[in-house]
Amino acid sequence: ASLDRIEAADEKVGAFLQQSGRAALAAAEQIDVRRAAGEQLGILAGLPVAVKDVLCDSTTTTTCASKMLANFRPPYDSTVVAKLRSADAVLVGRTNMDEFAMGGSTENSAVQLTRNPWDLQRAPGGSSGGAAACVAAGMVPLSIGTDTGGSIRQPAGLCGVVGMKPTYGRVSRYGLVAFASSLDQVGPLARTAEDVALLLEAIAGHDPRDSTSLEEATPAYSQSVSKPLENMRIGVVKEQFATGLNSEVETAVRDAIAVYESLGATVKEVELPHSKYGVAAYYVIAPSEASSNLARYDGAHYGHRTDQAEMMAELEAERKQLSESGDQRGLDNLDTPLIRMYRRSRAEGFGPEVKRRIMLGTYALSAGYYDAYYLKALKVRRLIRQDYDKAFEDVDLIAGPVTASPAFKLGEMVDDPLAMYLVDLYTVSANLAGLPGLSMPCGFSEAGLPIGLQLQAPPLKEQRLLKAAHMYQ
Ligand code: GLN
Repeated sequence: ASLDRIEAADEKVGAFLQQSGRAALAAAEQIDVRRAAGEQLGILAGLPVAVKDVLCDSTTTTTCASKMLANFRPPYDSTVVAKLRSADAVLVGRTNMDEFAMGGSTENSAVQLTRNPWDLQRAPGGSSGGAAACVAAGMVPLSIGTDTGGSIRQPAGLCGVVGMKPTYGRVSRYGLVAFASSLDQVGPLARTAEDVALLLEAIAGHDPRDSTSLEEATPAYSQSVSKPLENMRIGVVKEQFATGLNSEVETAVRDAIAVYESLGATVKEVELPHSKYGVAAYYVIAPSEASSNLARYDGAHYGHRTDQAEMMAELEAERKQLSESGDQRGLDNLDTPLIRMYRRSRAEGFGPEVKRRIMLGTYALSAGYYDAYYLKALKVRRLIRQDYDKAFEDVDLIAGPVTASPAFKLGEMVDDPLAMYLVDLYTVSANLAGLPGLSMPCGFSEAGLPIGLQLQAPPLKEQRLLKAAHMYQ
């Protein structure tokens, strides 16, 4: 059914970069055989799961929707992919994303556009746009995304599905192609909190191969998700409802909070005074880490390599021109073949947004600017975390919007990086603080576009988020 649905709908939606097709069917049949033989199966037995094309899977390519990795076949599986297989999931394909997970609309994919299933003229959000769209369009019940500054929660919100960014360290990053290592976290998307609980249970857990992985036992999320929370205290941040928030989003979010009150929750105002600096700090820290992580793609160690013959001809032509004009300085400064190979490979392999991040990050980390930008951003990051710690002394959860407005039109923001960065206003703080956050549908705009509610919790309280989401659903 999943493969049929993908065939019927994905031509329009464009969620998948790769499909396993018959291999997936064979894997599903194999699981049936084992079931018939009375074998004990994993918790995802036979369930179709789509995986964002940023997690290594040795059976296919991992492209990060970049020309740089167009032909990259990892020799090993990421821990998350290995865990999905050992839970007997059926991996049906690899989903589209913003190149190297940098973006919020999936329009930075070097491969294709993904459309929002609710309105094909609109963006699905990003960077895990394919992962959200394929669940929203009913192609798969479960998908895996990654969230560095909102890339699970934002597309989930814009596509009307449930998505969770777990606590930093809850899910292994081993085999996840790094964007900003101190912020990156893998997480589940699905239609319901129950399904998210099941998928999280399958992928979470300590992994000695990720040094930032937490040594925490994985709770039985799927068992506890339907137990309601009692005496729930919900925090609301006043600034999150200030100017800039679309009125339909505000109404839907306030209505959702009222539903919690009707379920017995008390609502209290809390303060996150430094969150207004979240986007600024994030867009220093994330590009800084990215500029370092992406240094490995030089055409030699990893990634696309420029055409050697063309490159040598180019160098030779330049050399000739310089010597004819007697430009000795130019000749002295001419690239060596190796340097030219790096330059051309990176110029050809990376798209404009990735280049922008590399330049931003390289600048912020350079001598003389490091203290003013990177170190300052780290200090802001610490303050944001302290605000949360204080707020969570009084409340169990913080509720608010995921994005300031419903899904925007494709093409509307691609040429305005700053506007695109500001979309992350409500999501980046959880990454900076390392906290878990969940996005779930809480209504529709008049134009029929889904609206998301964000719930945030203290570290390791994913169970609380899931229970709360399930109560609402
Ligand atoms: N939109 C943010 C960015 O472009 C977040 C991306 C993410 O979470 N991967 O960096």
